[in-house]
Amino acid sequence: MGFSTDAIHAGQEPDPTTGAVTLPIYQTSTYVQAGVGDHKGYEYARTQNPTRAALERNLAVLEGGKHGICFGSGMAALHAVVQRLEDGDHVLLGDDLYGGTYRLLDRVMRPQGMAFSTVSTKDPAAVEAAIRPETRMLLIETPSNPTMILTDLAAVSAICKAKDVMLVVDNTFMTPYFQNPLTLGATAVVHSTTKYLNGHSDMVGGVVVTSDPALAERVRFLQNAAGAVPGPMDCWLALRGVKTLALRMQRHNANAMEVASYLEGRGLRVIYPGLESHPQHELARSQMRGSGGMVSVELESRERAVEVLSRFRIFALAESLGGVESLVCHPASMTHASVPAEARARVGLTDGLIRLSVGCEDVEDLIEDLGQAMFN
Ligand SMILES: *Cc1c(COP(=O)(O)O)cnc(C)c1O
Repeated sequence: MGFSTDAIHAGQEPDPTTGAVTLPIYQTSTYVQAGVGDHKGYEYARTQNPTRAALERNLAVLEGGKHGICFGSGMAALHAVVQRLEDGDHVLLGDDLYGGTYRLLDRVMRPQGMAFSTVSTKDPAAVEAAIRPETRMLLIETPSNPTMILTDLAAVSAICKAKDVMLVVDNTFMTPYFQNPLTLGATAVVHSTTKYLNGHSDMVGGVVVTSDPALAERVRFLQNAAGAVPGPMDCWLALRGVKTLALRMQRHNANAMEVASYLEGRGLRVIYPGLESHPQHELARSQMRGSGGMVSVELESRERAVEVLSRFRIFALAESLGGVESLVCHPASMTHASVPAEARARVGLTDGLIRLSVGCEDVEDLIEDLGQAMFN
């Protein structure tokens, strides 16, 4: 099946009881049993919920994995993945990640005995050199957030395989519509479904997709045992959002390309993988089918960024990304405030950098808004 057909149908059948075309929101905490031990596969809603199960099947199909396991947030999904590791194991992190991922390792996992270090994953040889005998996992985002550095997924996954290291890719920025890390050799994909997959800025959720049976079993166990499960209403919203994922991503991509070209044409330093000026433009073309909706722009200073950010009329000043409405943020003081200043400087996340999540509005309106905010 094609991507859009799967997005609309995979994992969901019309309701067997009524024929309702749309899968119901099974808003229940428990299920009646005919007799002790005699039930329909559903006992208690932390453990199983049909709306959640449909979303899990759907996302597994889209990412090309065998197992999808949903959580109450992207962070809960990432937490379950790193919980797979044991005392003394070492995690290698890409050096430019969502700030909350860094904080999870630094402030939650490290105090519990997990070692981690960061590496620039732009150069596969640097990744190979940074892998220690005790390294069990490499966790990355590509393009990275917010400096849009790409990792060569095929090259890095081959290195990880040879060294028996799990490669986990946070695919939130690209979505399975543009990039399929599992196909390129990654062990698992993680998403904040809060972002593009749901796409309407009205829920928070996460998912882990993998074909690795041991990882799937452990993450599924943690979903129930630690209990960070999403509610059925949020699963239903995500299912509804995913139905239009292809349409939305095409529009995000087209709008972002126009916005990036416009800003670059006006003399700004713009970071977007779809631009020929992006240092890894060729890699972007070979491993992604589009460049997504995220555009970073470098302004002279923090003061200039703050000034520009106060002038937008359509772009809303907010954390998050991936909704149909355009957002803008200042990563150094918002999404990445939990990353130490020297670590931000090392990857080029300057205080003047602003990050646009280009939405699905009419691009002429977006460009006019950028023009009045930035060039007056
Ligand atoms: C938002 C985000 C997360 C965290 O997800 P939540 O749903 O907010 O918990 C992780 N990774 C990336 C790339 C994100 O953008």
